[in-house]
Amino acid sequence: MSDINDLRNRMDDVTLKMIHLLKDRTDIAKEIGEIKKNIGKGITDEGREENLREKVITLCKDIELDETIAAKFLNFLLNESIKVQSNNKPSHLSIFLKAKALEEQGKKIIHMEVGELDFPPPNIVKNALEEVYDKGFLKYGQTKGLSIFREAIAKHISKKFRVEVTKDNIIVSPGARFSIYTAISTLLDPGDEIIVIEPAWPAYKDCALNAGIKVRVISTTLENKWEPSLEQIKKALNSNTKMIVLNYPNNPTGKILNEKLQDDIMQLAQKNNLYVLSDEIYSEYAKTSWKSVLNYNYEKSIVTQSFSKSHAMTGFRIGYGVANVKIIEKMAKLQALCLTNVSEPIQYIAMKALEADISKNTNTVQNRLDVLVQKANELGLDFIIPDGAMYIFARINQDGFDGVQFANSTLEKGLAVAPGEGFGDYKNFIRLSACQNEKALVEGMNILGNIMRDNQ
Ligand code: PMP
Repeated sequence: MSDINDLRNRMDDVTLKMIHLLKDRTDIAKEIGEIKKNIGKGITDEGREENLREKVITLCKDIELDETIAAKFLNFLLNESIKVQSNNKPSHLSIFLKAKALEEQGKKIIHMEVGELDFPPPNIVKNALEEVYDKGFLKYGQTKGLSIFREAIAKHISKKFRVEVTKDNIIVSPGARFSIYTAISTLLDPGDEIIVIEPAWPAYKDCALNAGIKVRVISTTLENKWEPSLEQIKKALNSNTKMIVLNYPNNPTGKILNEKLQDDIMQLAQKNNLYVLSDEIYSEYAKTSWKSVLNYNYEKSIVTQSFSKSHAMTGFRIGYGVANVKIIEKMAKLQALCLTNVSEPIQYIAMKALEADISKNTNTVQNRLDVLVQKANELGLDFIIPDGAMYIFARINQDGFDGVQFANSTLEKGLAVAPGEGFGDYKNFIRLSACQNEKALVEGMNILGNIMRDNQ
C-alpha cells in the first residue's frame, strides 16, 4: 500500500512540475507574440515547429517513448502558444462589424469585405415564407433534418453530380459553417492534425484550434498561382494526420485546382486514410472546369454545401453536409447536443429554394467579377484571374503595405475591404468581394485607387 502511495505522490510531483513548465512556456509564448506583433510577423512558423517536432522525435527514440503520443502532447503545447498569440487577430469579420457600426452612425459604406450578395433570394423563397405557417413545419424535428428535405437534397445532388446519394448521406445544418464545425470536432481527436491549404477561409483553422487539433498549414503563393504541390502535402503528413481540407472554387483566391492535381491529392489522402473535407459552397460560381469531391466516391469524404451563396440566403443560415452514413451519424450526435435540429420553417423554405432556377445568380456574379478584374488591372494590382467564387485576392505592391491598416483607412473613406491576414500569412494582400452591383464596385475601386495614390 505504501508503494502505491509513494508512486502516486511522485506522479503528483511530476504533474505539478509540468504545470510550472507550462506556465513558463505560456509566458515565453506571450513574449514572442508581442515581438511578432511589433515586427509584423505571422503567428505560426512552420519551419520552427518542424524543427521542434524533429527534436521531440529524436528524444522519443533516445528515451523509448511512443512518438505518436509525444507528438500529440507537442501539438497541444503548440496550439496553446497559438491561442495566447491569437488575441485580436484581424479578419474580414472585424472589418465587417466596424463597417456596420459606421453605417449605424449614418455613414455610407461600400461592402467589398464580405461574401454576401446584395440581391434577394429567389421569389419562390418569398412565397415559401408566406405558406410555411399553414404547411405546419413548426415543431421539433429530426436532428439530421426533415426527411423530405434531405430526400430533395439527395435527388438534387445525385442529378447534378451523377452520383448515388440518399437522404442518409445528408445532414442539414445552420449554414455550411456548422457542418464544418461538427465534421472537424467529431471526426478528429485532440492532438490529431489537419492540413489546411492557405490562403483559406479562417474557420477551418479556428474550428480545429477550438477542438485541440493541430493545423498543418500548406502555404501557397501568387507566383505559383495558389497551387499547393503534392510534395508540400506529403512533407506535412505523419501518423497523427487525420484530415485535409479542400475548398475549390476557393475563398479568397478564386482558384480551382487542375483536375490532375486534385486527383493526385485525393489519391494521397486515400493512401494515407485521411478524411477529406471539401467545402464546395462556391460550386455554382465555377467559371472553369471543376470536379466535386463527391465524384471520387471516397468513403472518408465530407462535402459541405450552403444556400448562402448559391441562393443569396446568408441570413437564413442553412446549408448541409454530404458524407458516408457513419460520418453523418457522428456529426448528428454533436448537432443534437448543440441545437436539437435546424429550424423546420427554414428547412421548408430552403427545400422550396432548391426548385428555383439560379443560373441568373451565376451570370450576375461572373459579370461582377469581370468588372472587378478589369478595375483591379487598371490599378495595377497583382492577382490571378479567379477561376470561380466571388473574390479577387490581390497584392498591393507598396513598401511596408499592411492590409489591416489599409482596410481601416479605406473604411474611413467609405469602402470596406478584407485584409489578407485574415486568410493566413498574407499581410500585403487584400480580398475584394464582387457581391455588390457593378456601379458600387466601380465606385469602390475608385476609392481604392485614390487611397493607393495618396499612399505613394
Ligand atoms: N465556407 C466558405 C469557404 C465560406 O466563404 C463561407 C462564408 N463566407 C462559409 C463556408 C460559410 O457559409 P455559411 O453561410 O453557409 O455558413
